[in-house]
Amino acid sequence: MPAPRAEVTAHVALGANLGDAREALREAIAALEATPGVRVRLVSSLYRTAPVDSSGPDYLNAVAEVATTLTAPALLDALLAIEQAAGRERPYRNAPRTLDLDLLLYGEARIDSPRLTVPHPRMGERAFVLVPLAEIAPPLVSPEALRAVAGQRIEKRD
Ligand code: ATP
Ligand code: CA
Ligand code: CA
Repeated sequence: MPAPRAEVTAHVALGANLGDAREALREAIAALEATPGVRVRLVSSLYRTAPVDSSGPDYLNAVAEVATTLTAPALLDALLAIEQAAGRERPYRNAPRTLDLDLLLYGEARIDSPRLTVPHPRMGERAFVLVPLAEIAPPLVSPEALRAVAGQRIEKRD
């Protein structure tokens, strides 16, 4: 029998701005928990944010920390499958969405393949990622990084 894979700590960004966004995020966390090889360790508060490059209503965003035995590409596949199950459509770039799940960090891995870049290349520009990530994993977000996005409106919900 092959040795069990060691667990890797990964961080996933969740966002939704169509329909019942709060319910979409709750279901996404439940779906992550139900994914074999994924344990949800921490979930940030929910944050309401204005669309940045996107359009439509305000977003609800959160970040989850998971421990996973999946490889990074397999974890991405699981995230995309959860989005699909939530009815995600991609009519055009940055369109409003029922659910978006981005892989922010996969341990210390640096990945640059056609379908997966980790760390997520735009996370440093986004308060809606850095603020919830800093809430659950303070060492991963420097004060300078937070200062760089301090002008973006973001409001904690619950
Ligand atoms: P952004 O990546 O700027 O947040 P988006 O989330 O709206 O934009 P999507 O349409 O959800 O973009 O994703 C397009 C593709 O990005 C996915 O099919 C996936 O293959 C690729 N991708 C590359 N790196 C990542 C990553 N770290 N997390 C999620 N998807 C990624
Ligand atoms: Ca995204
Ligand atoms: Ca995405």
